[in-house]
Amino acid sequence: RAPRERKPDWIRVKAPTSAGFNETRRLMRDLNLNTVCEEAACPNIGECWTKKHATVMILGDVCTRACAFCNVKTGMPKAVDPLEPEHVAIAAAKMGLEHIVITSVDRDDLPDGGASQFVKVIEALRRNTPNTTIEILTPDFRNKADAAVEAIVTARPDVYNHNLETVPRLYPTIRPGARYYASLRLLESVKKHDPSIFTKSGVMLGLGEQRLEVHQVMDDMRSADIDFLTMGQYLQPTPKHTKVMDFVTPQAFDAYAAIARAKGFLLVASSPLTRSSYHAGEDFAKMRDA
Ligand code: SF4
Ligand code: SF4
Repeated sequence: RAPRERKPDWIRVKAPTSAGFNETRRLMRDLNLNTVCEEAACPNIGECWTKKHATVMILGDVCTRACAFCNVKTGMPKAVDPLEPEHVAIAAAKMGLEHIVITSVDRDDLPDGGASQFVKVIEALRRNTPNTTIEILTPDFRNKADAAVEAIVTARPDVYNHNLETVPRLYPTIRPGARYYASLRLLESVKKHDPSIFTKSGVMLGLGEQRLEVHQVMDDMRSADIDFLTMGQYLQPTPKHTKVMDFVTPQAFDAYAAIARAKGFLLVASSPLTRSSYHAGEDFAKMRDA
């Protein structure tokens, strides 16, 4: 199949210009924090930052992996910033966040894959902003996953998110450094350690996956007891990244959402511009208060 070059009308993105946007950017710069919003060239940055929603990316801005869809820089990362946990907590307090999403680059170079920094960030947030709910979006921690999950789960985030990203058939080209079943098992083990933590995962659509493959991923996720699901359109960040194979229509996203709900997910976000952290706080609060 030929890749799709032209974006359809339903991929509309507001230009990032507002007082809230500039304020969010200044705060992140002042505190020396990176965001996945910027590093991944997220199309929602105008909307989210205006509302002062940002997803902080800890452990630096250089990743030890090179996924074919991802805009984050690859290379040899710098030393871990010991001030980062406190800075994340200051940012959460200044932005008045009810819910914060923390993610990271992959740090296959670190002995614990970066798990202890996640723990420190969660602890700093609990100390400084005890009412903020915490969602973490972690790497797969490769062969250190058991120890990493155990440490992080003990710090008790509210939501543990790890994205499967795509269907297993496309892993060798799209997510070559990762293993589909290892990612599933990671999420399953979070639930086994502490069933009170909500688990969440997501896939990008438009990479060449088939409808029935997406349904199978949903079944796999439910059999691993995953609670929340996000599905969004893959957009090519630069010409050197993997090409878009399909623009999935908003109606098809709705149809996937209906199937996902029928399969028992507690929370489903599915639309072209859905990202792992898009409206994460609002959706989580609505589900909890329902
Ligand atoms: Fe940032 Fe997530 Fe919003 Fe994108 S959707 S701008 S990554 S908070
Ligand atoms: Fe991007 Fe994560 Fe892949 Fe690193 S591991 S290249 S941050 S998707």
